[in-house]
Amino acid sequence: MAGDAVIATVGLTKRYGAIQAVDDIALQVRRGEIYGFLGRNGAGKTTTIRMLLGLIRPTAGTVRIFGHPIGGDQRWLRRVGFLVETATAYPNLTVAENLDLQRRLTGATRASLTDAIERLGLAPYADRRAGRLSLGNQQRLSLARALLHSPELLILDEPANGLDPAGIVEVRELLRTLAGDRGVTVLMSSHILAEVAHLADRIGIIDAGRLVEEAPRDVLAARARDYVRDTFTDAERQEALLTADLERYFLAQTGPERTRTTP
Ligand code: ATP
Repeated sequence: MAGDAVIATVGLTKRYGAIQAVDDIALQVRRGEIYGFLGRNGAGKTTTIRMLLGLIRPTAGTVRIFGHPIGGDQRWLRRVGFLVETATAYPNLTVAENLDLQRRLTGATRASLTDAIERLGLAPYADRRAGRLSLGNQQRLSLARALLHSPELLILDEPANGLDPAGIVEVRELLRTLAGDRGVTVLMSSHILAEVAHLADRIGIIDAGRLVEEAPRDVLAARARDYVRDTFTDAERQEALLTADLERYFLAQTGPERTRTTP
């Protein structure tokens, strides 16, 4: 499988003084799969992703993307689209201007700009300044920037941040389409199980900097079902189901985001 790995890390470690942010992680993400990187706040997801992108230097261990080590020839970066926690759009430029800037930087086509605006539902906001967008739409803009140049690999830190339930479903569908139709490989992090459980082919669970479990989604789902059956009472299980049904009900009642504008 190593030959097919788009992302491969060995012994990846990051220490900040006494804090072991990431501890000896061996990660293998295969071509064309959606890999869900799941962990609670502070587990080490962002630190790992920053090391994958060469934004911070590991204390120990190695990263290879498309077989290339970080450092040296960085041409492989053109094949990667990424979103890391802080959105970095220019607040005084409009959505369209921000995307056009990114288009020129990455050599993407004008058609891809229109396509990204369409895919992320940003058409109604194309002429709005990025700094005036809602949190969810800022996130959509960051996602549009990440996929503008049709990358083969998307590395997304908490892509669902700030999105409403309908937005989460839209982004989920988008990532599924990109992976299914275009063979794009996706690594996405999340602290919400449901988010990766619906989408990821494989899930890696990170806790206190360590990769504690890694398995195909179905295998983890079966383990989770057994755990719930053995651990909770009937009333607790019913409550959990009700919450899930409430979310589905909400989605059925609300369409895509509609904004009222005054002339
Ligand atoms: P979240 O979901 O909250 O973003 P995360 O899983 O992305 O969490 P990280 O941001 O990677 O977690 O943080 C992992 C640990 O490393 C945390 O204990 C954090 O406080 C610590 N940490 C991260 N960056 C630094 C830094 N620059 N200096 C010191 N400690 C840091």
